[in-house]
Amino acid sequence: MRTPELVTALLAEFDVGDEFEKKEYICSDVGDCGWRGLGTETNLVFIRNTAWSQCPKCSSNVAYIVDIDAENHRASYVSRKHRDYIEKLKETLTQDEASFPELEGDSLEFSWTIEPSDSADGVAPDYVVIDCDDVVIHREEAYWGNKDRFEQVEEMLRRRYGSRFSDLEHFDAFGYLNGRPGVVWR
Ligand SMILES: [Zn+2]
Repeated sequence: MRTPELVTALLAEFDVGDEFEKKEYICSDVGDCGWRGLGTETNLVFIRNTAWSQCPKCSSNVAYIVDIDAENHRASYVSRKHRDYIEKLKETLTQDEASFPELEGDSLEFSWTIEPSDSADGVAPDYVVIDCDDVVIHREEAYWGNKDRFEQVEEMLRRRYGSRFSDLEHFDAFGYLNGRPGVVWR
């Protein structure tokens, strides 16, 4: 067996094609964590089109992987993990429009906005926020390439509010809907 390349890392940056999972890490966080192991043993946290790889012992970020849905790296370890993560997340999202509140008005205009991570290092997720006239009616974790969810939520709003539903307008500054950074879906 080939000896994996050794990376002494506190936040090494990789492209998804760099096979970070085959490298061995020594966590070098202050406090001398010293955890040593392969990329596959770290915990992956997905935000937008990136993954943060965290030390299983002290939770420090040991690696940062970019461009994880790149077309030519669909079979890579991180891309597969990302798709699994999205599938699991989707199962937790509400399918029940009864959870949306009663609203006044004959013509209801809704907006779909991405609320960016509130964490300084960016490791907390972004959220989708649905509001109507500045009243938040729903909030859920956003996932990359969520056009299917946009259409699902639009359909739920139609069912919940009937003919009073007017529009669901999206404000997606990050490119979530297309799954392409900075490309806004029309
Ligand atoms: Zn550590």
